Amino acid sequence: MEKILYLAHTQQDGTLPKVALETLSAAIQITKDLSGSTMMVGLIGQNIQPAADAIAASGASKILGVSGADFAQSRYGSDVKAAEAIANAAGATLIIAPATSRFSRALPGVAFRLKAVIDTHISGIQTTGGTLQIQRWYYRQRMIATLSRTARPWMLLVDSGVFPVWQGAKGTAKVEAVSVALSEKEQRTRVTGVEAPSADAQTIRPDAALLFVAGAGWTKKQPDGQTHSKEAETLILGLLHKAKASLGSSKSLVDQGAEGEAVLSFISHLNQVGQTGATPRHPKGLATCCHGEEPHVVGWRFINERRAVNLDANCGWAQGKADVLYVADAFQVMKKVNELLDKS
Ligand SMILES: Cc1cc2nc3c(=O)[nH]c(=O)nc-3n(C[C@H](O)[C@H](O)[C@H](O)COP(=O)(O)OP(=O)(O)OC[C@H]3O[C@@H](n4cnc5c(N)ncnc54)[C@H](O)[C@@H]3O)c2cc1C
Repeated sequence: MEKILYLAHTQQDGTLPKVALETLSAAIQITKDLSGSTMMVGLIGQNIQPAADAIAASGASKILGVSGADFAQSRYGSDVKAAEAIANAAGATLIIAPATSRFSRALPGVAFRLKAVIDTHISGIQTTGGTLQIQRWYYRQRMIATLSRTARPWMLLVDSGVFPVWQGAKGTAKVEAVSVALSEKEQRTRVTGVEAPSADAQTIRPDAALLFVAGAGWTKKQPDGQTHSKEAETLILGLLHKAKASLGSSKSLVDQGAEGEAVLSFISHLNQVGQTGATPRHPKGLATCCHGEEPHVVGWRFINERRAVNLDANCGWAQGKADVLYVADAFQVMKKVNELLDKS
């Protein structure tokens, strides 16, 4: 029997981020599976009432909140104080929170203050024989572990894309305010502004339906003996813009920049997918001018439907790594795809 605290913070517009609503589904499921357990909600943000109303039907026995201008922005000093106060007020044994960048930074510090244990990047939760088990990946997503802990409080930071978004009717929630006094030191860090790339320059979009991967072929000499990097940039950016896709890259392409070769201007190491890169989650993936070698394809572990465009019928994608391989010139294919997207 656990006292479960679902902890979340609001976004700037007062709503809960998608990963927080996914984590709410997880918390509700755990509460059901561990019979006799109760779930409380803890919210942090400038104005938390709209978020509380949005999840009024979640079945929480109580909604605790820390609100005010001091808690509008992500700041370690105030976030740990707020989360610690809510956890203490709830007397929680299990604290389940979304792995947002804000919480990933603050909650390990909260665990230290609460003398709790914490597990991050949780990619699965199940209850077996009344025991809660979590799953997380190790060694760059090559080994998965299922583990359980007896220590309490136990904090769980749940990754995005693992649970369905919680859906329920809005209501009028009663929020019990938890007061938190901040010292001057805890207010020392101030957010003076946000410098964000424009929506078009932002090429990594974790929520996109499509992962578009560009390989080194885009900058290599083409059948006419010339490179066509400018045309490649236009075609790739056009597709990203029209399909609202997320951009992934092979290591060879991103490494070219470091080696001083011409590289697509908007690609950085952050786009790299693979063994030494990222393992993004998207329903679909399209690889272009990328050979599909194992150290790259291992990063496609969480891509459900895979397609590739390559001039080489014997490339790695043809060796059972893609559902569909188009043996074709990616310059021609993407030009046509962009034209079709323009018409749709
Ligand atoms: C320890 C280790 C870790 C690694 N980690 C990673 C990693 O994290 N991520 C990663 O990506 N790689 C990684 N690699 C490197 C990986 O093995 C490959 O070297 C790399 O993925 C190759 O990139 P590429 O397919 O873009 O380039 P290439 O192998 O050069 O392939 C280019 C492809 O483009 C095709 N092409 C060219 N022109 C066209 C056209 N007009 N239309 C269609 N197709 C065309 C060619 O047929 C070719 O298949 C790692 C390697 C090692 C040893």
